[in-house]
Amino acid sequence: MKTIKLLLLTLFLSTGSNILFGDDDETKIFNSMPSSPTVKPKKTSKVLVYSHASGFKHSSIPTGVKALRVMAQKTKAFDPTFTVKTDEFTKRGLAKYDQIIFNNCTHVQKAFSENAQRTAILNFIREGKSFVGFHSASDGGIPQWPEYTEMIGGCFAGHPWNAGGMWPFFIEDPTHPINAAFKNSEFKFSDEIYQYKNYDRSKLRILIGLDAVKSGKKGNSKTNDYPVSWIRSYGKGRIFYSNFGHNKATWWTPFMLQHFMDGIQWALGDLNGPSKPVTQKKI
Ligand SMILES: [Zn+2]
Repeated sequence: MKTIKLLLLTLFLSTGSNILFGDDDETKIFNSMPSSPTVKPKKTSKVLVYSHASGFKHSSIPTGVKALRVMAQKTKAFDPTFTVKTDEFTKRGLAKYDQIIFNNCTHVQKAFSENAQRTAILNFIREGKSFVGFHSASDGGIPQWPEYTEMIGGCFAGHPWNAGGMWPFFIEDPTHPINAAFKNSEFKFSDEIYQYKNYDRSKLRILIGLDAVKSGKKGNSKTNDYPVSWIRSYGKGRIFYSNFGHNKATWWTPFMLQHFMDGIQWALGDLNGPSKPVTQKKI
């Protein structure tokens, strides 16, 4: 009888915790998430998170949605709206938002095929709002929408560094507040890392780079310039992009969640930090 009671209690508790914390991924995300924003937001910023892939569909897309939802709920750094539709991406629809996040959405040139939509998105940023892209958000734009590639800073051109590998990274901008999550100047991490085409360092401030020499693999850059996270100014607006986010586990890694939140807060204008481009240091 005691055993049955214990079993029932265990069942009740496990069901209860599922109701509270959702699935296992969500529990890991919740436990890894910063408990507060890095800086107190000046206002409640409304963020439109778009997660539809028009090309390759990453299985980590729902994980990214969960992480951004938990981030908003736990830290109150922003107020998100999640969508897989393009209806809101008009001048009028975007007017109520402060930031667009593209969560692993490949081939956006197919989803946003009309000039009016494209102009609405780019003008939204140029006129003082912000844009954040994760991982395959950079797998899109050219040749049909070159202005998108120019805005985000480069276009996916293959991934010599596969998702299963453990790759060496270095902090290129150690004093930048978006890099506060990284305690050492170098670190190793497992994720899928891109090389780029139509990438122009002179427009971007690179925060983290991949150390191709240490990785033992060669990519397409003559100077071994493989940026991984970066920021830029775009008109009056701000952009944060990170190549991390292919692997689900990235979305429950504490220092990555901190880095992502700081990038979001910087782009929103809550976290201060320079966006002036810096020349390549490590060759
Ligand atoms: Zn990927």
